[in-house]
Amino acid sequence: MVLSFETRIKQIAPISVEEFMTLTVEHYYATRDPFGADGDFTTAPEISQIFGELIGAWAANEWSTLGRPNPFIMLECGPGRGTLMADALRATKNVAGFHTAMRVALMETSPVLKARQKEALAAYHPVWIENLSDSILQSSNTPIILLANEFLDALPIRQFQKSPEGWKERTIEINDKGNLAFRFVPHKEKETIIEDSPARENFVKDVCTLLKKNNGAALFIDYGHTEGGTGDTLQAVKNHRFVPVLENVGEADLTSHVDFAALRRVVEAENVHCRAIVTQEAFLHELGIEHRTATLMKNATAQQQQDIQTALHRLTSTEEMGKLFKVMVIDYVPHR
Ligand code: SAH
Repeated sequence: MVLSFETRIKQIAPISVEEFMTLTVEHYYATRDPFGADGDFTTAPEISQIFGELIGAWAANEWSTLGRPNPFIMLECGPGRGTLMADALRATKNVAGFHTAMRVALMETSPVLKARQKEALAAYHPVWIENLSDSILQSSNTPIILLANEFLDALPIRQFQKSPEGWKERTIEINDKGNLAFRFVPHKEKETIIEDSPARENFVKDVCTLLKKNNGAALFIDYGHTEGGTGDTLQAVKNHRFVPVLENVGEADLTSHVDFAALRRVVEAENVHCRAIVTQEAFLHELGIEHRTATLMKNATAQQQQDIQTALHRLTSTEEMGKLFKVMVIDYVPHR
């Protein structure tokens, strides 16, 4: 008999939030393509081709700053359907020397999404890697340009809850009714949960180590905060709606907000350069999203113009992705 994912979680409960998130995220992505209107959520590259195109322009600029290395590795972590990379590479095909110099590498765990990436990026002959220890990255000093959009949010967090005896790691157990439930910690203060993420910090630290060895730059885009906050940010999304995190276990997208202040501290401790962490709105504005939009509008039908405007609004407005999403760029460039 094949046990449901939820039954398997119940068998191993009590379980920390960190372990719960690791197992749930792995199961969720391994068993579906979650993107788009018929799926659970939509990411920036799936909203508009402009997003990936501007990131292509960003990458070309970084490559130039690095001294136009040949070869260099264009690496994406958690590439989803491969849309961002496809748009970025289409936008850079006229950048002299860029495509001949680049080797495309994708870090992905989901077999379903690997298949989508294979279709979307066949022309570029990508290689797939499991993690940053892969010999493609480690056995050479090839400079790296790394992209990660909505990747860090999927890496697990720990939660700690204030109890009368001090901070305790938050766990999930089975309650009297046989359902999964957070272990109850009695406490009178309202804000009693704090989070950290060794998985995210270790990942960013490994990126720093790699950049110091190979040179390069990395771009991280995600929802989160730049000033460390307290509180519970664990969230689950199904069919484009927030759902309770302990229902639909393994069938909803489970993430949390990224603490960019914590990641900046990791980068600086590694002596890697961390540029200002800015909002997605500011980043896309800097890359000229308004100009690109205007150009696309010129040759568009009325319906297409409407769609382009809607996409621009979703990507940049304060009430949509513009402010909640943050952009962190780190780099390690020779002779600087
Ligand atoms: N960047 C894409 C997809 C974001 S969803 C976009 O913007 O559309 C998160 C992606 O990270 C998925 O491709 C998922 O399968 C992948 N992923 C999640 N955990 C991972 C891990 N530990 N290692 C590698 N990839 C992971």
